[in-house]
Amino acid sequence: MAVALIVAAGRGERLGMGNPPTPKAFVAVNGRPMVEWSVEVLSQVCDEIVVALPPGVTAPAGTLGVVGGAERSLSVRNALHAAAGDPVLVHDAARPLVTVELAQACLDALDARDLDAAIAAAPVTDTIKEAGADHVVARTLDRAGLWAIQTPQAFRREALERALSQPDEVVSAATDDAALVESLGGRVGIVEAPRENLKVTTPLDLALAERLLADSRRC
Ligand code: C5P
Repeated sequence: MAVALIVAAGRGERLGMGNPPTPKAFVAVNGRPMVEWSVEVLSQVCDEIVVALPPGVTAPAGTLGVVGGAERSLSVRNALHAAAGDPVLVHDAARPLVTVELAQACLDALDARDLDAAIAAAPVTDTIKEAGADHVVARTLDRAGLWAIQTPQAFRREALERALSQPDEVVSAATDDAALVESLGGRVGIVEAPRENLKVTTPLDLALAERLLADSRRC
C-alpha cells in the first residue's frame, strides 16, 4: 500500500505573499491552496496521504496532518513516522503541477529497475559553472550528465527510514531525501520528468504555475 508524504511546512518567505507571509503551500493558486493540487493528484496513486504542516494549520480534507520540522527533511521524517505505507512517495507541496503519470512512473520504477529510490528529474538546459564567494569561476561542469532534481521521489520504506535515521545535523543539511539514501550506498534512479513540474519559489514561478494549470484544463 503506497503512502504519499507531502511536505507543506515551509514558510515561503521568498514568495512574499502577505505580511506576515502566508505559508507558501497555502497561497491560493487558481483559487485553491497550492497544496490541494498535489493532494488531488497523489490521492489517485496512493492509499494514504500524510501532510507536514506549519503549526496550527488544518490538514487538507482526506489527509492526515502532522506538524513539520525546522528543515525540509525533518518535515519528511515527521510525516514518515505518522505513516504506515510502503513504498513511500515524497512530494513538495510547492510543485502543484505534478501529474498522476509522473507519480506512477516513480512508483513503478522501484521494482522495474530494482531501485531503492526513483526520483523525478529534468535534463539541465543551462550550462552550469561553479564559482567561489568572489564570483570567479572555478570550473564548468559537463552538462551532458546533469539533471535538475524534482519531486515526487519514490522510496522503499526501509531505505528512507534508514536514510532519515542518520543524526539530526546530517538530515537537516539535506535538500533532497534521495541524497541521504545515496550517502548510505543506496541505488537511486532518475525518472525523466517534464520541466513543467516546476517548484514555486518566486512570484514569477507562481504566475507560470497558474498559467500552466489553466492550460492543463484542471481548472
Ligand atoms: O523552501 P523549498 O521550496 O525548498 O521547500 C520545498 C518544500 O518543502 C515546500 O513544499 C515546503 O513547504 C516544504 N518544507 C517543509 N518544512 C520545512 C521547509 C520546507 O515541509 N521546514
